[in-house]
Amino acid sequence: MKTAMMSLLSSLLALAVSGYAQTVATSKEVESVYPAAHDLYIDIHQSPELSSHETQTASKIAARLRSLGYEVTEGVGGTGVVAILKNGAGPTVMLRTELDALPVEEKTGLPYASKVHAKDDSGRDVPVMHACGHDLHMAALAGTAAIMAHSKESWHGTLMLIGQPAEETISGAKRMIDDGLFTRFPKPAVGVALHVGNDLPAGQVGITPGIYNTNADSLRITIYGKGGHGASPNETIDPIVIAARTILALQTIVSREVKPGEMAVVTVGYIRAGTKNNIIPDQAELGLTVRTFKTNVRKQVLAAITRVVKAEAMAGGAQQEPLIEHSEATDLVYNDPALAQRLRVPLEAALGKENVVATEPIAPSEDYSFFVEQGIPSLYMSLGGADPQKFADSRNGGTMLPSNHSPYFAPDMDPALHTAIRAEVAVLRNLLNGAAQ
Ligand SMILES: [Zn+2]
Ligand SMILES: [Zn+2]
Repeated sequence: MKTAMMSLLSSLLALAVSGYAQTVATSKEVESVYPAAHDLYIDIHQSPELSSHETQTASKIAARLRSLGYEVTEGVGGTGVVAILKNGAGPTVMLRTELDALPVEEKTGLPYASKVHAKDDSGRDVPVMHACGHDLHMAALAGTAAIMAHSKESWHGTLMLIGQPAEETISGAKRMIDDGLFTRFPKPAVGVALHVGNDLPAGQVGITPGIYNTNADSLRITIYGKGGHGASPNETIDPIVIAARTILALQTIVSREVKPGEMAVVTVGYIRAGTKNNIIPDQAELGLTVRTFKTNVRKQVLAAITRVVKAEAMAGGAQQEPLIEHSEATDLVYNDPALAQRLRVPLEAALGKENVVATEPIAPSEDYSFFVEQGIPSLYMSLGGADPQKFADSRNGGTMLPSNHSPYFAPDMDPALHTAIRAEVAVLRNLLNGAAQ
């Protein structure tokens, strides 16, 4: 009896072990797709495209996925790509990458640094760089797509890969949804995405259960004055002076009005006014970004901004009320806590326990939240991008590593890309092995 029990236990154990083993991509699997993923990274890094203009990028991704046997649809919500691989009964699981780059001049000095310039939406010539690392996300997705396509015996269900345009302008996710992402194609039971950054060393992934990042609101504020000669300020209402006072008054919202300990950021990212030293302009424009975790704090901060902006204009004698436009807004990304807990297991199996760390919520925002709001429980992971030695030095008081959007941002490609592929395959195989939650 005892031996029968023992052998039952050991066979159950073997089953569990083989279950885990099955989710982990073998080195052979990863290395067989790595050169193509690496080449795609270099290619896309050298030919970045601005938000909503990702035509070449989208066709490269589409072509790659089509050649792997995915059913690919292009032009979803602008330049969006949807690739479906059906593999029998089972849940639909979505993996998302962004497609867009930023108007930043690359200064990494890398041999494959971008030299691209393009016209932005206002017609200005701007340098373009993958300064947010979306090129790495695309390369990882391509590698993962290849492994999944070559190992259909290891999973069942429907794999849905999406290339989302215009993440940086917080518009692409919504446009894909509005264009039928979840009606023309199967609606996923679960969604997965990741983002590379220098907050973790390459080789690691971070999981933040619950709130992952912030609510983000972009405001464009136009202050109206009365222009005239710079030598006769008494005959004008100077919008630059009103703007200057407004900027300083805005700083007191977080420091004096928001409860200490609550997360809130009010940043004036640009001020535009005037053309010449001796001309007082008619108007001044401010661009703000506002970040919060809680809905009530978000409302409080936005109301305070409106109050301060109007009051400063009135104090300055402006005859027209300032215009406050809410140009962009996105809610925070919420990581389903049960999903985060479930997926930690295959991630630890794939990367090693010490390489799956708990991370704090971050301030940068993300329009992945639009997918979550469509009722898709998700896990949005942080992917380590820092050279491990430089990361350790920076933690010991050395040079601070460049953040995403910096002209110097350069992930430690080889370990980061390997880790991203391993993490994605482990998570997808786990989700596509049994019933999705
Ligand atoms: Zn970004
Ligand atoms: Zn990004």
